[in-house]
Amino acid sequence: MVGSVPVGGGAPIAIQSMCTTKTDDIQATLIQAHALATQGADIVRVAVPHPGDAAALPMIVQEAGVPIVADIHFSFRLAIMALEAGVAGLRLNPGNIRDADQIRTVVKEAADRGVPIRVGVNAGSLDKRLLAKYGGATPEALVESALHEIKILEDIGFTAIKISVKHQNVPQMIDSYRLLAEACDYPLHLGVTEAGPPPYGTLKSAIGIGTLLSEGIGDTLRVSLTADPVEEVKVAKQILQTLGLRRTTFDLVACPSCGRAEMDVIELTRQVQERLEKMNLPPIQIAVMGCEVNGPGEARDADVGIAAGPGRGLLFSRGKQLGWVPADKMVDALLDEAVKVATENAAIEGEAARIAAEAEAVVAGSEPKNG
Ligand code: SF4
Repeated sequence: MVGSVPVGGGAPIAIQSMCTTKTDDIQATLIQAHALATQGADIVRVAVPHPGDAAALPMIVQEAGVPIVADIHFSFRLAIMALEAGVAGLRLNPGNIRDADQIRTVVKEAADRGVPIRVGVNAGSLDKRLLAKYGGATPEALVESALHEIKILEDIGFTAIKISVKHQNVPQMIDSYRLLAEACDYPLHLGVTEAGPPPYGTLKSAIGIGTLLSEGIGDTLRVSLTADPVEEVKVAKQILQTLGLRRTTFDLVACPSCGRAEMDVIELTRQVQERLEKMNLPPIQIAVMGCEVNGPGEARDADVGIAAGPGRGLLFSRGKQLGWVPADKMVDALLDEAVKVATENAAIEGEAARIAAEAEAVVAGSEPKNG
């Protein structure tokens, strides 16, 4: 558990991001943590390089409304301050602290508080000895480094561990995690490090993280983008949604347009996307199609869809044809219907979850909960 968020053991893949603010700027950090949580981040990490950052943590932990992980390097004192502040997790490599007594002190404090530690190995900060041994930051070098860090924790009886082996090179990153998944059974935190700005960073992350998730490797993830971290959460949600691992947002199906298009599908889709991104709807699939040839089929298959015709569009909802809508009303009509269907879907899913929980309780021999 990272605070209230289960990680590993079949739990839903957790989405993480990291604040770009100075942590000692409490107000700015809380604003960003709230923005990340509102967008869908399950866990938020903050950098703690200085005592002033650690001193800000009690307030941030209390007010963030999302589990906070403290990112610590080298200083056991900062780690202790973070734990005393009530952080839900530490990102810390014990090998960086070096002093065995100091490591033991941090680990005991984390264990007493039920706080997990993420061991995070990055290709860019590998030990010189390993770089020399393997001739560079190879997957074998990253995994050996991670296993070395884990052993330090295991030797003092600590196993509430998750691990990352991030690389900026996507094939190397994929191989590193594959090797690590074979070498141990801890939850893995996926990420392509220094992936860069969108769209390059988005693509690298989607390919690297997506490949591993499709193989069943990975329990939590961070998309690292040189951008507002809210973008990281949006991309993470799309990766999970695309793979069918978590439905948390909209799925916009749209045709690429062609010479048959009866109107400007690209502009129509842009308007729908822009409005959808601001709406924070429950999960729903929406189709925007450009003509009456392939359009109706796709529009009918989606939760809600529109197939454009000359000067008007044919609106579909849950496979039923609702009728023609004039071109200037298409976006409004489509999104009004989307709100209705998404809300109903969420209510049906909520009811299904309640029934499943009751059934599980009956099977377990306990009393089902009301409500
Ligand atoms: S749906 Fe129609 S307009 Fe869009 S790409 Fe297909 S054929 Fe072309």
